[in-house]
Amino acid sequence: MEELRQRIAEDLTDSIQGEIHTDAVTCALYATDASIHEITPAAVVHPRSAEDVAVLASWASTNEVPLIPRGAGTGLAGGALGAGIIIDFSRYMNQILEVGNDYVRVQPGVVHAELNKVLRKQGRCLTPAMGRSAISTIGGMLAVDAAGPQAYRVGSMRDHVREVECVLMGGQRIVFSRQDPVQLQFLRREPAARHVAPEPMRDSSEMFLPVDEEEAQLLTSVLPMTRRDDVLERLTALLDAASTDIRDLQPVMLRNASGYMLRGVRRPESLDLARLLAGSEGTLGIFTEILLYTMPVPEHRVLSSVMFATTEAALQAVQLLLDLDPSACDLLDRRLLSLALEARVEWESIILREAEAGLFLEFTGGSSNEVRKRHDDSLNLLQDAGIDYAVTRTAATPKDVDDLWELPQSSSSLLARLKGASQPIPIVEDIAVPPTEISRFMNLAQKTFQRHEVTATLFAHVATGQLHIRPLLPFPEPETASRVEALARDLYQHVRTVGGTISGQHGDGLSRTAFIRSQYGRLYRVFQKVKDIFDPQRLLNPDKIISDDGRLTVRHVRQIAATTHEHSAVDTNDLLHVLDLRWTPTEAINAAAKCDGCGECRSTDESVRMCPFFHLDSTEDASPRSKANIMRQALSSGNTDELLSDENVRNLAASCFNCRQCQSECPSQVSIPHLMMETRAQYVRANGLSRTERLLSRFHSYAKFGNRFTRLSNRLLRHRVFRRLLERTMGIAEHRRLPRFAGQEFLNSAVARRECSDGRPGGDRPTVVYFVDYFANHHDTQLAHAFVRILQHHGYRVYVPPGQTVSGISMMSLGDTESAREIAEANLRELGEPAREGFPILCTESSAALCLSQDYPLLLDHADVGTVADQATDAGTFLLDLYARGKLRTDFNELSLKLVYHTPCHVKALGPERGLYQLLQLIPGVDVEAIERGCTGMAGSWGVAAENFDQSLTIGARLIEELRTADVSAGTTDCSSCRLQMEQGVDYPTVHPLKILALAWGLMPEVARQLESRPVGYRMS
Ligand SMILES: Cc1cc2nc3c(=O)[nH]c(=O)nc-3n(C[C@H](O)[C@H](O)[C@H](O)COP(=O)(O)OP(=O)(O)OC[C@H]3O[C@@H](n4cnc5c(N)ncnc54)[C@H](O)[C@@H]3O)c2cc1C
Ligand code: SF4
Ligand code: SF4
Repeated sequence: MEELRQRIAEDLTDSIQGEIHTDAVTCALYATDASIHEITPAAVVHPRSAEDVAVLASWASTNEVPLIPRGAGTGLAGGALGAGIIIDFSRYMNQILEVGNDYVRVQPGVVHAELNKVLRKQGRCLTPAMGRSAISTIGGMLAVDAAGPQAYRVGSMRDHVREVECVLMGGQRIVFSRQDPVQLQFLRREPAARHVAPEPMRDSSEMFLPVDEEEAQLLTSVLPMTRRDDVLERLTALLDAASTDIRDLQPVMLRNASGYMLRGVRRPESLDLARLLAGSEGTLGIFTEILLYTMPVPEHRVLSSVMFATTEAALQAVQLLLDLDPSACDLLDRRLLSLALEARVEWESIILREAEAGLFLEFTGGSSNEVRKRHDDSLNLLQDAGIDYAVTRTAATPKDVDDLWELPQSSSSLLARLKGASQPIPIVEDIAVPPTEISRFMNLAQKTFQRHEVTATLFAHVATGQLHIRPLLPFPEPETASRVEALARDLYQHVRTVGGTISGQHGDGLSRTAFIRSQYGRLYRVFQKVKDIFDPQRLLNPDKIISDDGRLTVRHVRQIAATTHEHSAVDTNDLLHVLDLRWTPTEAINAAAKCDGCGECRSTDESVRMCPFFHLDSTEDASPRSKANIMRQALSSGNTDELLSDENVRNLAASCFNCRQCQSECPSQVSIPHLMMETRAQYVRANGLSRTERLLSRFHSYAKFGNRFTRLSNRLLRHRVFRRLLERTMGIAEHRRLPRFAGQEFLNSAVARRECSDGRPGGDRPTVVYFVDYFANHHDTQLAHAFVRILQHHGYRVYVPPGQTVSGISMMSLGDTESAREIAEANLRELGEPAREGFPILCTESSAALCLSQDYPLLLDHADVGTVADQATDAGTFLLDLYARGKLRTDFNELSLKLVYHTPCHVKALGPERGLYQLLQLIPGVDVEAIERGCTGMAGSWGVAAENFDQSLTIGARLIEELRTADVSAGTTDCSSCRLQMEQGVDYPTVHPLKILALAWGLMPEVARQLESRPVGYRMS
């Protein structure tokens, strides 16, 4: 492999404009997609143009290296995996090239939802809408013939493609369309010694003759026009010869993405090659440009959720409803409905607890009256037929319809919430049967599941007969893999019995290719010949659709077992120690393996926060998924140290600053932040910290001097020459507005000391413990005082443990776990006793609450770590709880304030409630608007470093832009680090909500002065 990698890099680096990666880390990131499979490629290429792809295909043909095209890697069957060179189109070849009245020309890497956003401006769209629209690329969708819930009405990608520019193996760029001329010369010519003979098809058991190598080489080196003519000639001959088999063995179906779609390709006067290429899974040609038909956005829609007491009743209803031509009809089984019930409070009114199945029924049309009538007729029809049902919601406005669609469209994500060793494995997840046969098939399938002693979940686009069935099984490992194969084999037998197909819209990939022969019989031979016409060397995406490997379904199953020793770094005496955090390799790999590669964290949709780095630069290594992948592979491959100390891991880690949005929004709640902490810690262990990192990691120690010589330090911080010097010597960004030092640390203040005078928590008043953390101790001491006054106002004694220090989250984020451990030990010494006595530990910084509750348990094996974690919470959650229990005082003075509120990522990570934002709304005269424009890009001290300053501002740009246009007197947020960024971008102050509450309670009139101050120059307000 190393030799091949070297050859690829040497031969191709100067030949193409795009990027070539042959390092172990990048290759590891492309070894998986959303399937259960894993194959490490030799290299990854990000082409910038079709010309790049042509050069690559020419080189690969000469050197006999496989090429595997890839979009977003959300395929569920492993179609984008392979041992050769992965061509990732999502990175650069993602442009919309031309938008016409009824068509659009795109590069293959364009994301479906992004395209629709542009088309919608002129009232058009590209169907089908589908579950992964915000992530999947047009190239990937066309290659598997993707479809969505509305496929019954609008078809699949195959129905929308007009023209495809392909690069064939050998490097010829050829445009194929819906009307390529038939070429009959071939039939008239002497059948030269070529591998495809136009003879009638014989028995399917007949072995296919391998391609003559010399001929294959010859074919791949001819001019594009000659090659095109050759393809058309051979194909015409083949399709003519095989017409009977195609008619008999590939019947008309609403959905079929298995094998090559040969039906309908041969027209009387032409060949529809665009139709054939749709669903070809990158095995015939590499798409470099795609011309698609667009369609008008449906003007009027009505969507209803209809609940049924039995699945049979729901399926019976579907048979009647299809006559009324619904645009979509999706079914969720009881398990999915229950998961949805748990997932969102607002869905409780949509789902009946006793329902066994729910249908989401949509009608579209030209007028609201028409769709309403068809909708009402459909329900009357069910009533007349005596079917028992309940309509729980009917949505008729575009927004309501979109909101209601969210429920069925989240079904795949909901499955990730299932707990237990058995998981919904995507292996037979794409069966499609004639809609009239669904009940019969489901009965047969149930019996098969019983025989195999498994249960399964069902989500179905019933109008097209598309059944997304997922058996609940332990993740297949070498010893259990045959169980999966046996189940698939038995189910697919029933699929054939009812005239269905093993794949309706996800393609065959590695999961199903081994079963295509049994699905199509002797037609499989024709598929082989099609493959050899386009790709005589069989180097394009090998083992997809055409393969001789009977065990392919389980040959490349993802490794989820650790091969390293069961030790953790906590046993520091152990020479074999592997991990820095307090988990065993098995626990760590289990955490990483929770990522099923679904790709949701590749979303750049503005409605999700997900990963700020991916929003900024949509590369695979910037995605949270890559972080889980690298850790799983490092632990399963056995060369943990080597992989994790690689320089490329540093780059990977540089695209994570521990904001934790991925964990909150990931359907499987993969603990990416902890995996990243571990990865960074490993890297730091091998390579050490940089100077700036060391400074930022221990900044609290230097802040002591800043406070001791306040006047001087505050003056220096405003001085341009000093700030330049600081940037040059320490790497602190010159232009970052910094907070002034307070003078006296809060922990040394009389208030803090008075409350703790007896050195013990508890007493005659209910007691809470205040964990102050860095910012409120050194800079914004007013915040600490405000919080203490608020708590006292509510009758609490506020115990401020005198020996507490910073939380250490910056250290953990930077990989300096050794220092973080010392800090955590010091804090636990202070917090352990009050926690054991049951006193709440309250934090004014949400990051501190996260660190105490979620990070310390992974950092230290300490007797009190769990108790402290249980007792720690943020101020907002605590006060909101008081309010909910009717114990919060509401004797606020009226203020006159217009505020804009930003929700910090770490507040989101603590839970859905935004306690302090909710409480601000109780203050009379306060008009507070929450804006949702993503992460500020500060992430603790990360945005303070000069090397991150520009990137930090770019990440926060959307938010800053919104803040600049807001007509408000001040900003507010409960994170001091976010405050830094907010004040960087605007000329009004940002004040912690607790201080505004203290002002409203009349506890801290001096806050009014800050509300009138301004951030200027190098200084914050
Ligand atoms: C949670 C979830 C929900 C999903 N919902 C749906 C759904 O509603 N409907 C649906 O149809 N699918 C769905 N899928 C499956 C998946 O999103 C689709 O198969 C999608 O079309 C894959 O697009 P991609 O860009 O990720 O392609 P990839 O996974 O990267 O590739 C898919 C195939 O396309 C080939 N390919 C990619 N680019 C090219 C190119 N330029 N030229 C030639 N071949 C190429 C690859 O080789 C591979 O065989 C879902 C998946 C998940 C995880
Ligand atoms: S990290 Fe979560 S969202 Fe991202 S691919 Fe993995 S499971 Fe999906
Ligand atoms: S913690 Fe934040 S920066 Fe890191 S991967 Fe997750 S979303 Fe991205």
